[in-house]
Amino acid sequence: MSSESDGFQEALDATLPILQSMTKNLRGTPKASRTSLENLKVSLPPSFEKTPAPSSKPSNRTVCEASTPVKSTAMPPMDDGRLAELEGLKKNILSCTRCPHLLTSRTQVVYGVGNPFAELLFVGEAPGEEEDLKGEPFIGKAGQLLTKIIGAMEYTREEIFIANVLKCRPDMPPGEAGNRKPKPAEMATCLPWLTKQIELIKPRVIVALGLTAVEGLLGEPRTMRDVRGKWLDYHGVPLMPTYHPAYLLRNQSLGEKRKVWEDMLLVLEKLGRPVSTKQRGYFLEKT
Ligand code: URA
Repeated sequence: MSSESDGFQEALDATLPILQSMTKNLRGTPKASRTSLENLKVSLPPSFEKTPAPSSKPSNRTVCEASTPVKSTAMPPMDDGRLAELEGLKKNILSCTRCPHLLTSRTQVVYGVGNPFAELLFVGEAPGEEEDLKGEPFIGKAGQLLTKIIGAMEYTREEIFIANVLKCRPDMPPGEAGNRKPKPAEMATCLPWLTKQIELIKPRVIVALGLTAVEGLLGEPRTMRDVRGKWLDYHGVPLMPTYHPAYLLRNQSLGEKRKVWEDMLLVLEKLGRPVSTKQRGYFLEKT
């Protein structure tokens, strides 16, 4: 096959899931996937467990007007060269040798997952054990909760992009189980990869999950109290810091869930996405 037709196939391969997911949203969530979502046997916050299936009825939906939405980039051209650049970048990331101590401990590099033209990017800190084994970010318990938050925002994982500041699982002392936080030096070494991903994906909004991700992106220590729910800036892209889903698994109070949800409402507002009255009311105390 010629390189031109390879490029076309690449563009088709990348675009097909986006089109499929758009079609699926038009029809509503198929029963099979609704059932598998409802059947997830993990201890998740009750209301995120009841994440509604994307509705095909726009009747009670209102558009937020409180903040200026960022400009929509709409559907990108079939191939503006970005896909090929992303493919090249992915190859380089997957074979990275910048952190000698992680070369032997990692199973694989975790590049990220989702739509290469995503308008919304979620950034976590680093892959954990499950992510390292599977090669996909956020698939453990915290990841399953993130997927529910994404669903409550009426997106799918295929429509947005998920990545980490550090692309390799931080190594653990021999014989020790679990995961550790990435060190600032590890994140600083890896950050140029994420920066390049952001430059090519061109998200309109970034959500930083947890303080480590915020610090990894911005390169300086912050406090959650200072940054959560406030718009920051990452090279011109609006950045919303919120709690890491693992924090929500440890602190399942309605108040903490509501804080994250209010941050996500700000994100939807910034993106000019429709928000239903029902969505607006998630995690409010019943009076
Ligand atoms: N936590 C993260 O920050 N990233 C993952 O990929 C998984 C858990």
